[in-house]
Amino acid sequence: MGKINVLSFAVANLIAAGEVVDRPASVVKELMENAIDAGARHITVEIRNGGTTFMRVADDGCGMTAEDLPIAVKRHATSKISTEKDLEGITTLGFRGEALAAIAAVSELRIITRTKEAQMGAMLVSSAGEIKEITEQGAPKGTTVIVENLFFNVPARRKFLKKDVSESIAVSAYVEKIALSHPEIAVRLIVDGNMRLETAGDGNPKNAVYAVFGREFAAKLIAVSGGDGGVRVEGFIGRPDSARPKRNYENFFINGRYITSKTASAALEQAYTSFIAPEKFPCCVLYITIDPAAVDVNVHPAKLEVKFSNERPVFEAVYYAVRAALEENTDRPELKIPAPRPDAAHAFAPIEEGKRESLDKRQVPMFGERTAPAFSRMSAAEYQNRFAQNRLANAFGKSSGEKNAEIPISAALGETFGKREEETEQKDAPRALPAVADAVKEAERVSEQKPDERAILFPRAEWRVIGEAFRMYILAEVGDTLLLIDKHAAHERVIFEDLLRNLRASERPTQSLLLPLTLSASREDCETLHAFEKEVGAVGFSFAVSENEIAVSEIPDGLTAREAGELLLTIAAQLRDGEGKATISRDILFEKALYQGACKAAMKGGREYPPEYVAWLCRRLAELEDITVCPHGRPIAVKLTRAMLDRQFGRT
Ligand code: ADP
Ligand code: MG
Repeated sequence: MGKINVLSFAVANLIAAGEVVDRPASVVKELMENAIDAGARHITVEIRNGGTTFMRVADDGCGMTAEDLPIAVKRHATSKISTEKDLEGITTLGFRGEALAAIAAVSELRIITRTKEAQMGAMLVSSAGEIKEITEQGAPKGTTVIVENLFFNVPARRKFLKKDVSESIAVSAYVEKIALSHPEIAVRLIVDGNMRLETAGDGNPKNAVYAVFGREFAAKLIAVSGGDGGVRVEGFIGRPDSARPKRNYENFFINGRYITSKTASAALEQAYTSFIAPEKFPCCVLYITIDPAAVDVNVHPAKLEVKFSNERPVFEAVYYAVRAALEENTDRPELKIPAPRPDAAHAFAPIEEGKRESLDKRQVPMFGERTAPAFSRMSAAEYQNRFAQNRLANAFGKSSGEKNAEIPISAALGETFGKREEETEQKDAPRALPAVADAVKEAERVSEQKPDERAILFPRAEWRVIGEAFRMYILAEVGDTLLLIDKHAAHERVIFEDLLRNLRASERPTQSLLLPLTLSASREDCETLHAFEKEVGAVGFSFAVSENEIAVSEIPDGLTAREAGELLLTIAAQLRDGEGKATISRDILFEKALYQGACKAAMKGGREYPPEYVAWLCRRLAELEDITVCPHGRPIAVKLTRAMLDRQFGRT
């Protein structure tokens, strides 16, 4: 006799049921989805003991006829599709016709329902999948499903249920997602007799968010609206200061359905990269609307992960919408400078609607054609001079090759730097000393304030650099404010902004090196750099790679050779790491590599730098307009106003 048995109908049913229903939350999910598909405006969910003994989902949707009721609990019975063709354009949450059958198979079930047209409602009672009775029953319009003693007939499953509290949490989490995804439905959740959640159902997503997450969260939201005809992105994101240690506040809804999507998460997190610390995650409630034909909803029934037939438009829509919202929000209105410098525009600024075709056809010329490196022939001494001049020119705000090229470099160094040092030390430092401790304390207090109050625009008034505290924080008097500037963070941002600007400009200031700077690197790094030669060239590098070496002949202006070397190697390593990730577009990957590189190349906190270097940095900061954070999202500076200090000392 053969070994293969055909399973009995009952056993096959149980196996199938196990795939749809594995815990109370999945029952609630299926029942709520049915209610939504039935057009409900009010849904009430009640559970007891984590749902293990009792679950009730009541809706005011279309209801079922007495005739349909026994069919609804059969496997593959659905009113939502009928032919194969319908599978292509599914707009309902359910369509498999499996849920009610699965739930019925593993519980004691009651369904009470009435359609608008029917005088009387009907009730179905079943146990372990067997229909016990169908009776006439007075009922309001809509459907109520009561599920008791889940898995009473499947002890193996029952054992896997967690503690009631855990199951309750899972149910609540799911109900919250539904409430968020359908602000037009009034959702109520009752847990062990207590009302846990109640949404207005007035169609305003903000009210739903408020009901679910509470006042504090809702107060820190930034509205998002973006995308194009193919993919729309609407909703809310958390302000950078409401970032979380985990991903659990990332909420995405696609066409009204709560989902998880690696693509959407990656796009969101990429958009936040220069706004929050790398180990933190943003909060969001984002509603993505997309042509159903472009989304594969035919995923495993119990899984939420959605795959897109084409990931890229989704990634881009989310990235640009979030980025635009963030950038708009960080320019605080009262601090806004009316006419931004055109060349300061962000390389990753959102593309205007209509202008957008595809990334490759972007109107913004990302990478200008690069001509062959201008390799100048200079003597070693000339080179030294030129190099120092560049540094000097930077320190005094002149571009290389301008007037002071005539100044003998040694003289310029000796005199000018010497003098400045004197000024700083003798005049400013002693006066500043007693204030430092208080200032720092006050700054700590300030840094605990809300970012709005902490926000800083580098003021336009004259800057007087007082000195440095702890070799870490630059103190500068600017108009009636005292700025405490994180040296490293500030330099990092300056480098980053410069590189970005270079990327977009057709002509970029570079420094030619007489003797190529030779860097040793792994073969992979060399290959990666070669592959990104155009982009790396666009920020101001000229280089040639061989097996294990990079010979650099030109570097971006404003950097020392050491800084440039660190920058290039970091860029290579970052690009290599990120290259495998398909969802990250090339330009975003490159931007990420740039700010990692900027971090490496920037002045280090705790290390001493010549005062002219510090002065140069302050000059650059004075040019910045609305940048309050380093590319990693930490603040660059805190400010103490004259008024704050006066108050502190009882002078008011
Ligand atoms: P599916 O939702 O995939 O169609 P279900 O097993 O969840 O499969 O439901 C089977 C059918 O029962 C649905 O197609 C629908 O016609 C009917 N139904 C289930 N729940 C409700 C409800 N709350 N209100 C109205 N009809 C419902
Ligand atoms: Mg269903």
